[in-house]
Amino acid sequence: NARSNSNAVNDVASLIHPYTNLARHPEAGPVVMTRGDGVYVEDEHGRRYIEGMSGLWCASLGFSEKRLVEAATRQLETLPYYHLFNHRSVEPSIELAERLLDIAPAGLGKVLFANSGSEANDQAIKLVWYYNNARGRPEKKKIISRWRGYHGVTIASGSLTGLPANHADFDLPIANILHTDMPSHFHNAKPGESVADFTRRMVDNLEQLILREGPDTIAAFIAEPVCGSGGVIVPPEGYFAGIQAVLRKYDILFIADEVICGFGRTGNMFGCDTYDLKPDIMTMAKALSASYLPISATIVSDDIHEAMMEQSRKHGGFAHGVTYSGHPVCAAVAVETLKIYEDRNIIGHVQEVSTRFLERLHALAERPYIGEARGVGLIGAVELVTDKASRTPFAPALGIGPGIQAKAMENGVIVRALRDVIAFCPPLIIDRQQIDMMFDGVEKALDAMEPSMQAN
Ligand code: PMP
Repeated sequence: NARSNSNAVNDVASLIHPYTNLARHPEAGPVVMTRGDGVYVEDEHGRRYIEGMSGLWCASLGFSEKRLVEAATRQLETLPYYHLFNHRSVEPSIELAERLLDIAPAGLGKVLFANSGSEANDQAIKLVWYYNNARGRPEKKKIISRWRGYHGVTIASGSLTGLPANHADFDLPIANILHTDMPSHFHNAKPGESVADFTRRMVDNLEQLILREGPDTIAAFIAEPVCGSGGVIVPPEGYFAGIQAVLRKYDILFIADEVICGFGRTGNMFGCDTYDLKPDIMTMAKALSASYLPISATIVSDDIHEAMMEQSRKHGGFAHGVTYSGHPVCAAVAVETLKIYEDRNIIGHVQEVSTRFLERLHALAERPYIGEARGVGLIGAVELVTDKASRTPFAPALGIGPGIQAKAMENGVIVRALRDVIAFCPPLIIDRQQIDMMFDGVEKALDAMEPSMQAN
């Protein structure tokens, strides 16, 4: 293949890869992807892979959806760019906002667009602060996130992200961002603690943190319905009901980060629907446009919007907004994405095939060295352990997770190793046979890695 070696050399010489062990990149990378077809992607050597991670939890409709290409082309030919500043508007953004409000949980009333999930969460923080300033209580400022939660990488959203590696070296978190525990029974339960007791303790921990800090200083709590990049943590029953009761008690806003869960991933349009969440702010990105073009949104309650209006009256304007907020081509692709969801009943399809997905996922827990399998809809993960009883993880230096990821790739399947977790998040259009092929490839990889796991 003409593109191969020289291309790889150029890549190493020229590109900084996000979220990559840069020191290892010259020997380990790159894998150059050249085309996509349904749930498959193909590399420069013509090898095909089932994309079991939808790229980065993103490509809900796969990699060759012609309707999205046509929608982008139509808009590029009509009005390729215009902005929303200063009372200007564009039709696709208006239509997208209306469609989003139609499907969003009740009480959410206005949409502010941006380009990425990080920005959407960054905006959410600003709007919470703006809201409390408008309500005359600027000291109600602290935002509580959760350890292991992932909310982005900007200075503020990176502070929300509860992964210490994302804070080290960057002087994060910034002031006024706090973290509470992730309700992962597997990681955080005391020996012998029941799921119900554990769940109560997690809710109680949040309340204790609020009381320690003073409820008048706590502005908001942010959570993903299902924690994605932190290891696919499915909330235990009763967790969010308990959390939301605490938030209401202390007049604390709830921000739901739907960047991964949104648009069908958990078997409903939003994770908020699956877990009966009533957020004041919802953020979304990725599958909003099936990831064909970058666009994100922060959706706020009528109450927050009303406060923004008041503040705007006082200050003569709302001093926040990005150049590409509601970019017409991105918005046109997102509108088309939502139409495809309707026309093809994508949510119904997810509900149907997820039974097979979850069956195969949970079957992995029968194997040695798999401590737990967790999932909902079409997102799932298994936890690698040296010993099931003690739930001891493998030493990171052994590279067990990355080894399984690499072997799976040799079998034509892309999954993602997140430390001790192997994560699955295929395009929502995947069928039963492809689900079986994906898990067959991973089972073979686990077989191949078994001697290395046994040795430790
Ligand atoms: N929130 C969640 C839940 C995410 O998974 C991500 C990205 N993985 C983000 C926010 C940040 O999105 P982006 O990478 O588009 O900034």
